[in-house]
Amino acid sequence: PTPSLDFPARVVVDLDAIARNVGALAGHAPSAQVMAVVKADAYGHGLVPSARAALAGGATWLGAAQVPEALALRAAGITPSDARVLTWLYAPGAPLDAALEADVDVSVHAAWALDEVVAAARATGRTARVHLKVDTGLGRNGLTPADLADLLPAARQAEADGAVRLVGVWSHLAFADDPGNPTVLHQAEVFDDAVRLVEAAGAGLEVRHLANSAATLTAPRMHYDLVRPGIAVYGISPVPQVSDSVAYGLVPAMTFEAELANVKRVGAGHGVSYAHRYTTAQDTMLGVVPVGYADGVPRHASGDLPERPGGPVLVGGTADELGSDGAARVLRVAGRVCMDQLVLDLGPWATEQAGDVVTLFGAGTGLARGGAPTAQDWADAAGTIAYEIVTRVGTRVPRVYV
Ligand code: PLP
Repeated sequence: PTPSLDFPARVVVDLDAIARNVGALAGHAPSAQVMAVVKADAYGHGLVPSARAALAGGATWLGAAQVPEALALRAAGITPSDARVLTWLYAPGAPLDAALEADVDVSVHAAWALDEVVAAARATGRTARVHLKVDTGLGRNGLTPADLADLLPAARQAEADGAVRLVGVWSHLAFADDPGNPTVLHQAEVFDDAVRLVEAAGAGLEVRHLANSAATLTAPRMHYDLVRPGIAVYGISPVPQVSDSVAYGLVPAMTFEAELANVKRVGAGHGVSYAHRYTTAQDTMLGVVPVGYADGVPRHASGDLPERPGGPVLVGGTADELGSDGAARVLRVAGRVCMDQLVLDLGPWATEQAGDVVTLFGAGTGLARGGAPTAQDWADAAGTIAYEIVTRVGTRVPRVYV
């Protein structure tokens, strides 16, 4: 896209890639429906456009952690016939009545949550569609199996009263990105017991769901009726060992690019950025990229440690790949990432000028394959995971949809 927006950087989101990634995920789990997880502004890609793209790609459910995110989907015109929506993370006093009015399925993860859902159902005259969240071993949110057994009589009574319908049992895995880890199978067995318990109590479940992206891609045993991929919807591999996504037929949907704000010549021995953690080795050209940690560029990806290269930036071309003409190259952040900017040492013969577009990450095949940098490459440079890279791109960076 032409750099027409006022801000000198942007996230370009390839909606077609999101749709195709959902199609690829559905192919990996042919017996299950797909819930595209669109929490956290669709992992930074933009909630509503990404949700619509996922539905176009074949998802039939949308997953939104927070109640306001689920409500935003409905407010944007995604109707119950377009998609079922599940929301699952709330504290006492959450707007559950609004969720029920909007025909959103709700998770119940504690006894007080069931009480609040029942109260919201009574207040609105709706029947709440409830998914019982079981902590099968993640040790995070949800009912332990013992809590579930304690809650079931009240849940069934609420069902008899018409306040709720128990439509789902669900859980989340602790080690899905570590295929072969024995806890994964153990969690599935605990999950099976929980499902049996709920069914034995007489609930007519519609969906049992356990699989995130990693389990969708690697563990058919975990697919049940519905899979809940998030990161893979956006084209990023959830399994760190397969950092390039290519193996799974996924295409990264987000490109983060910026226009150089300045290019200037400096001499050898010139200290660069705060605390001069980088010094030019020769007479060279410095380029200023106008994005920094306020825009989600991790400060931990600074080029200020001898043992760890800074975050990679594709310079000399706007393509996703390096090309063969030698103009495009990958440079590492020189010195510290600042709040709004970072610096590149473009080299003595650089022909780049202010206004030229550089790409922090995009749909390339990644540095390990000799390709253009990806969000995973930034994660590697910062010592984190690609999830954090894409979800943290700052709100002042415009999203452009192609
Ligand atoms: N289900 C739940 C409950 C989640 O919290 C998440 C995200 O963390 C997902 C599914 C999707 O996970 P992933 O992005 O690893 O596919």
